[in-house]
Amino acid sequence: MTFTAIVVAAGAGLRAGEGLPKAWRRLAGRAIARWSVESLLAGGAREVVVVVAEDCVDLAGAALAGLPGLRLVAGGDTRARSVAAGLEALDGLGDGEIVLIHDAARPFLARETIAGLVQALDGADAALPALPVADTLKRRRDATVTTVDRTGLLRAQTPQAFRLGPLRRAAAAWDAAREATDEASMLEALGGRIVLTAGDPKLFKLTYPEDFEMAEQLAAGARITRIGQGVDAHRFGPGDGVDLCGVRIAHTHGLVGHSDADAGLHALTDALLGAIGDGDIGEHFPPSDPKWRGAASHRFVTFAAERIARRGGRVANVDVTLVCEAPKIAPHRAAMRQRVAALLGLPLDRVSVKATTTEAMGFTGRREGLLAQAVVAVETPA
Ligand code: MG
Repeated sequence: MTFTAIVVAAGAGLRAGEGLPKAWRRLAGRAIARWSVESLLAGGAREVVVVVAEDCVDLAGAALAGLPGLRLVAGGDTRARSVAAGLEALDGLGDGEIVLIHDAARPFLARETIAGLVQALDGADAALPALPVADTLKRRRDATVTTVDRTGLLRAQTPQAFRLGPLRRAAAAWDAAREATDEASMLEALGGRIVLTAGDPKLFKLTYPEDFEMAEQLAAGARITRIGQGVDAHRFGPGDGVDLCGVRIAHTHGLVGHSDADAGLHALTDALLGAIGDGDIGEHFPPSDPKWRGAASHRFVTFAAERIARRGGRVANVDVTLVCEAPKIAPHRAAMRQRVAALLGLPLDRVSVKATTTEAMGFTGRREGLLAQAVVAVETPA
């Protein structure tokens, strides 16, 4: 199930209070738009086009830094014009592509909602999540209050799912000066087939100050921390140096291995993959494949980090332990921490590299080889 997503974050959205447009206000430490984008990535989006107000491009770039498959596009002065700008960015895609259009201000998007929409799109031009109206509806006109018949009334949410072809035609036919509060209305105007899927009360749009209080409470349970661990060992052999945690160290021996034999980065790669239950280094980079001969192991780490980012996750911290009698690790620890921190885009205080010996016991004690262990914490959507 792959699809492309457009996230509309171009609105000024100042109703919710504070000076910042609401998409860029923070919820539990991350921008609200980032929550939405990460949810779409976790749900299978291969690319997310984020439409932002022109004067918020820098702000958006910083708030969404490090996410894969992302494109920022400047929006227009109405939602319809912003969506048109997002669609323009998808010029290279065919009419059959599935496109989800989502409000940046709906951060609590569940994978089930996305799956339901994509499935419902079989045999329809558009699919959208909707909720029944539970409250009695009133209309106030001057001093008179009357009850509105709520039969058949539903609350429409986003994301809304489309095939790109019908959506392009509907957007082209829509008068851009006329406000469309959602994209399904454009399809309705052309008589498109629209199906409804189960809405989600948690998918509410952050609009008023009190919405943010509720969102802060929900945010606490919306992410989970996963632990991953990895172990690797390599044998010493002929050579004049070793690669450890991405740093070259002069030594009386080298390390034997198919790639550069950097046990530190291999253990780290396995820990990262382990945290998201995504196999191990040998599965993704088989030693039987000649293309990994002599490969620099930082590629394995960045590969695993990108798999995490693709799931809407991010690495919280990393702890690597190297076990050997020699070479001495201490003089190189600072460089190793810096290298790993740079590879993962983490501040230095989230990266630890430690070293120990086994008191001359066992294979590391006999200096036959070297052992590395890594533990990581990764935060992902629940
Ligand atoms: Mg290895």
